[in-house]
Amino acid sequence: MGTFVVCKITNKHRNEATNFKILLFFALLKKLKSMIWNESYECMGREEMREVQNKRLRTTVEHVYHNSPFYRAKMQELGITPMDIETIDDLVKLPFTIKTDLRDQYPFGLFSVPMSEIVRLHASSGTTGKPIVAGYTRKDLSTWSEVLARTFTSGGCSRNDIFQIAYGYGLFTGGLGAHYGAENIGASVIPISAGNTEKQIQLMTDFGSTALCCTPSYALYLGEAVEDKGVKDKLKLKVGFFGAEPWTEAMRFEIEKKLNIKAYDIFGLTEVIGPGVSYECNAQKGMHINEDHFLPEIINPVTLEPVAPGEVGELVLTTITKEGMPVIRYRTKDLTRLMYEPCSCGRTSVRMHKIMGRSDDMLIIRGVNVFPTQIESVLMEFGETAPHYHLYVDRENNTDTFDVHVEVRPENFTDDMSSMLNLRKRIEARIQSVVGIHAHVKLVEPRSIERSTGKAQRVTDKRNLYKE
Ligand code: AMP
Ligand code: ZN
Repeated sequence: MGTFVVCKITNKHRNEATNFKILLFFALLKKLKSMIWNESYECMGREEMREVQNKRLRTTVEHVYHNSPFYRAKMQELGITPMDIETIDDLVKLPFTIKTDLRDQYPFGLFSVPMSEIVRLHASSGTTGKPIVAGYTRKDLSTWSEVLARTFTSGGCSRNDIFQIAYGYGLFTGGLGAHYGAENIGASVIPISAGNTEKQIQLMTDFGSTALCCTPSYALYLGEAVEDKGVKDKLKLKVGFFGAEPWTEAMRFEIEKKLNIKAYDIFGLTEVIGPGVSYECNAQKGMHINEDHFLPEIINPVTLEPVAPGEVGELVLTTITKEGMPVIRYRTKDLTRLMYEPCSCGRTSVRMHKIMGRSDDMLIIRGVNVFPTQIESVLMEFGETAPHYHLYVDRENNTDTFDVHVEVRPENFTDDMSSMLNLRKRIEARIQSVVGIHAHVKLVEPRSIERSTGKAQRVTDKRNLYKE
């Protein structure tokens, strides 16, 4: 009898435990599903996705061939027509696009629709004073807010959230991009833009912001300011979406700790759409690429050949739904690798690793793309300076510092402080107007910058942004 009772209880417990596990499983599934904005595309079977991509690629190639003199000429040069592109395996036949192409086509030469169809323009700094321009049709804007809605939903956000958008608003894609994505999921949006830290913290506490969007370096800066003010307990923040510049896992840890949030990486670039090309899910193991809109390839930046699956190389992106300014095989110069393994979140899309470096010398300083050659050409505009310079980039108090050391020509080097000060100010003002950020210029004596016998090393970047 005694044995019988024990057995009965055990079975009952076992049943309860099983029921509990089943309930837990369904609760978890429900939670995961609630973190997916567009299940039909984000979790589409691979074969079906391939079909979608094939079709959209064909449409895009037809579109640019007939509406973009630039791409038509490029394809004709290679002796190909849209008939040669049937599936995504034919992508390799298409020409690459590089930043210089966009610069050469400044401002609207790459647009593939009449200007009357373009409803928004954005721009990002390029290799010269001319920015890279992007034009969006109404459909492109809707695609953009769709991919950002996926991003924010994957971070657990919904209409119940209050989004503080602290990316810069304006020509930069960050502010408005995130703005419309957050509105799309029905969240309440605070379009505060970047900077004005006092106000950021005031609104964050008074309005009860639950999600923050800004660059990771600004998130760290805000985190520190929050600590200094002792208001961490008053924050309702739970999550942040940070991108537009490289950041490390160590930075993620710091941001998460300082703001008591989960910090997600988001990736994108003006030429392709802006933020929203790819986004992290709650597994935080790589960024899911919105493959129904952007086709990724990884190439060896020297041979330009595709690397073996999973190997590190340069990310190349082709837009397959954009109308205003589609780009074919755009060489991002960002180094990463693709991850094809299924993800615990349930999405089936391929993931890209956190950006691991650049295959060119572009620096991102305070969110602005800076090429050393841009600085060089500014310096060369001044007859008083010699072509010997060195750029120092570092991070102090979570803000990038940028110092430009340049030699003064022997005939112009003088003890007259006011004339040296005047020269320095003129160079700083010119850098500000061409590149768009403030640099601290230091005029140094002739022959004081180390000469190089090989490739000149003109940049010292101590931020170590690409380290794990
Ligand atoms: P922009 O078009 O001015 O927004 O600059 C785009 C570039 O910013 C990309 O090509 C990357 O080099 C960089 N970038 C954007 N998002 C990230 C990110 N999450 N991690 C690392 N670099 C990023
Ligand atoms: Zn995932």
